[in-house]
Amino acid sequence: MKPKDIAELLNEPACIHNKKSKSGCAKPRPGATAGGCAFDGAQIALLPIADVAHIVHGPIACAGSSWDNRGARSSGQTLYRLGFTTDLTEQDVVMGRGEKRLFHSIKQVIDDHRPAAVFVYNTCVPALSGDDIEAVCSAARERWGVPVVPVDAAGFYGTKNLGNRIAGEAMVRYVVGTREPDPPPAASERPGVTVHDVNLIGEYNIAGEFWHVLPLLDQLGLRVLCTLSGDARFREVQTMHRAEVNMMVCSKAMINVARKLQERYATPWFEGSFYGVADTSRALRGFARLLGDEGLSVRTEALIAREEARIDAALAPWRECLRGKRALLYTGGVKSWSVVSALQDLGMEVVATGTRKSTEEDKARIRELMGADARMIEDGSPGALLEIVRESRADILIAGGRNQYTALKARLPFLDINQEREFGYAGYEGMLELARRLALTLESPVWEAVRRPPPWAAGAPEPAAEQA
Ligand code: SF4
Repeated sequence: MKPKDIAELLNEPACIHNKKSKSGCAKPRPGATAGGCAFDGAQIALLPIADVAHIVHGPIACAGSSWDNRGARSSGQTLYRLGFTTDLTEQDVVMGRGEKRLFHSIKQVIDDHRPAAVFVYNTCVPALSGDDIEAVCSAARERWGVPVVPVDAAGFYGTKNLGNRIAGEAMVRYVVGTREPDPPPAASERPGVTVHDVNLIGEYNIAGEFWHVLPLLDQLGLRVLCTLSGDARFREVQTMHRAEVNMMVCSKAMINVARKLQERYATPWFEGSFYGVADTSRALRGFARLLGDEGLSVRTEALIAREEARIDAALAPWRECLRGKRALLYTGGVKSWSVVSALQDLGMEVVATGTRKSTEEDKARIRELMGADARMIEDGSPGALLEIVRESRADILIAGGRNQYTALKARLPFLDINQEREFGYAGYEGMLELARRLALTLESPVWEAVRRPPPWAAGAPEPAAEQA
């Protein structure tokens, strides 16, 4: 990737950060290495495309530390769960064998797995030794007749967020527009309903949560051409140019895709979230608003009224035990406000929310939801989080898996909200799952047991002394 391409990706006019600086995302700070490099960002953005062979061109450690670290689920194909790497060694670099090794790796993966396409991710070492992965991919494409897409996202190019954009750019440049979608369902199949084609960008189907939402879109007559990239197939990404509306789901990661599809194909887009009852309804209305279809608006309002009434009744017993509970939320980006709204829907109080990776727009939404004095946390170190828990008398910490042991060591209930989680929280049905998980965590008898002073603290002999 040429420096001018990287500069162009950093200068994303649709991104709110651009107003402050051409950062592409928050700048990494010392000690922030756990946040992931550009390669990591590119791979996690595209890895859920399930029928593609994802080859990491570089030393094995690059593939090892980033492979499968998201709980994105697939409804069929599982090729994406296999890790492929060219496993470059010092010998390959010294002898200049990187390109040859890549070419043979592409051949091997095509022979062994017959993938719909091959994505090749560049990493630091071959980028420094000057491997021309674009030329290798193009030669392999011609030789074997399978699409081979270069994703030139070496780690040192920048942050994980830049990597997300590079991934999106690769899709727009090499994949989108290379196939036409299947014909829409015949009018007789959906009498009186005009079927509209839509895309979801930045939806990763974590723990299968998008499957809570898909039936709703189907009922409305919205055909999802592609979710970039949760449970996606290569052939779906190829047709993204034909959508009538794009929704940016809960992430600014691939905002450049939404903007470019608007520029090239005049596809309007909006940003929304499927976390919480209110936001799910708002997102469904977003489609109806941009499509300008009167019939769709009527169907959307009817579906929202029916689903909200149903979920309200189902949530009633859970709301009873969650009402007034105080939550400390520490998560990234858009979830910093979308989950606030979901927790408030359940009658909980959010005492503070993390904003380290949030945009100015995200922060404005937080203020809308939590008031002008909303407490926003930038420092997510264990000590700082526990201090806030103490000050605010929080009942639960809701954060990513890496904060789990901070909470458990402090004997504090914890819920994993990030990409490694086991449960899907999107849509109306996901809200029920969220309420269930929160209640189970908060009401677990383990907290009372571990907080109770040990028997020896009340004057009983210590176990060691007893044995002696
Ligand atoms: S920074 Fe470079 S070497 Fe490290 S994981 Fe990322 S691509 Fe690999």
